[in-house]
Amino acid sequence: MNHDDLRHWSKQAADWAHDYHASLRDLPVRAPLVPGAIASQLPSSPPETAEDMAQIWADFERIIPPGMTHWQHPRFFAYFPANAAPASMLAEQLANAMAAQGMIWQTSPAVTEVEQVMIQWLRQSLGLPEEFSGTIHDSATTATLSAVLTMREVALNFMGNLKGLSGAPRLRIYASAQTHSSVDKSIRISGIGQDNLVKVATDETLSMDPQLLEAAITLDRANGDLPAGVILCAGGTSVGAFDRIKDCIDVAHAAGLPVHVDAAWAGSAMICPEFRALWSGIEAADSLVFNPHKWLGAQFDCAVQLLQNPTPQVKTLGLRPSYLETAGKEEVVNFNEWTVPLGRRFRALKLWFVLRAYGLEGLRTRIRNHVTWAQDLCETLRRVPGVQITSSPRLSLFTFALADDTATERLLTAINDDGRVYLTQTRHNGAYVIRVQVGQFDCTKADVDMIATVVKDLMP
Ligand code: PLP
Repeated sequence: MNHDDLRHWSKQAADWAHDYHASLRDLPVRAPLVPGAIASQLPSSPPETAEDMAQIWADFERIIPPGMTHWQHPRFFAYFPANAAPASMLAEQLANAMAAQGMIWQTSPAVTEVEQVMIQWLRQSLGLPEEFSGTIHDSATTATLSAVLTMREVALNFMGNLKGLSGAPRLRIYASAQTHSSVDKSIRISGIGQDNLVKVATDETLSMDPQLLEAAITLDRANGDLPAGVILCAGGTSVGAFDRIKDCIDVAHAAGLPVHVDAAWAGSAMICPEFRALWSGIEAADSLVFNPHKWLGAQFDCAVQLLQNPTPQVKTLGLRPSYLETAGKEEVVNFNEWTVPLGRRFRALKLWFVLRAYGLEGLRTRIRNHVTWAQDLCETLRRVPGVQITSSPRLSLFTFALADDTATERLLTAINDDGRVYLTQTRHNGAYVIRVQVGQFDCTKADVDMIATVVKDLMP
């Protein structure tokens, strides 16, 4: 296959993509397959000789789409969305065509400079002050890991990277149980250790209790441990919990600790000023992450970390061997020094396309609709006999259950086997509950209302 062939097949791929998206409402949202169904259709060894692209294409059409869960389906209400707006897909095609590796400024100045400008566009869109700069990671997990490694190094006066952790004081990091498992993962792989992630209890609003945070830090210090930072939750995965950002940051900063806020899902909603009360005080955060690849339409992967002062993170993650120097251009930013991997994709291009193609007003309208439709649906489900709302909507996420765990689990299985909508589960206050989140880029009110129809059809 050469570049002339690529032109032909790219046109076919564009037509295929259009027809695929047009047909999504007719497909079951979740792949209705048993494990191994796809792998068993592939040869167990690679071909020795080149194969005809027409045959490869035919196999793709036959084997792959039936094995996909359709994340761009307008009735995908599971997990959180991974939205790919059409303008984002177009930008990704162009980024793929150039296939640049933007590890340092000179390996593609546009990759770095569009990223710098997009970070500033997003900062303004979220209503954050001018001091914030930032970078784009692959995922929120990597951004949180970067923040945790920085907390570790700042606490150890940048000696952890050099000397290792053995012999160092016991580091402690604080978060509530509502934070995502990416926080636990970051603590584990940073070498701090899961046992040193102090899960501070939440109050009746599901916010970390700031007084208990203060008490935990004081106790650890009295025991000779070394508190290193606080991680707050703005829109938890399970039921959308928000920590009281201002109160918790005040406690952390009074204790001299940096704060990282995980707003991976809810951050996108903050382009709407009326939702910003939910993270009031955010302007004092040292670091925060949000995923435009969730709710904003810039497709996976695109996780934005905003930093009050990037210097400690660059000191933690940055290395500049001679083969990565840019002679005579010491003033440029080399974003690999802000992140864990060296290599970087051109992720900012899709942000540029999305923000221009829909405008902030277009994106706000979608998010506002999702929140309103989720609230309406919650009220409809509340009136269905046997259904209990187990957590009321936070933005566009709520949960519901039946009388007991077994009945709830059976209902969820029936819903997902039915295929008209896709929902997932969580545990809340010890009970098995069904999550509903509304956020798919192309969904309509009718798509959201379908959830109530399906629930009523399948109630035991
Ligand atoms: N934080 C929250 C609140 C999330 O919901 C998720 C994923 O859904 C993550 C972090 C991890 O995101 P990523 O897949 O970008 O690492």
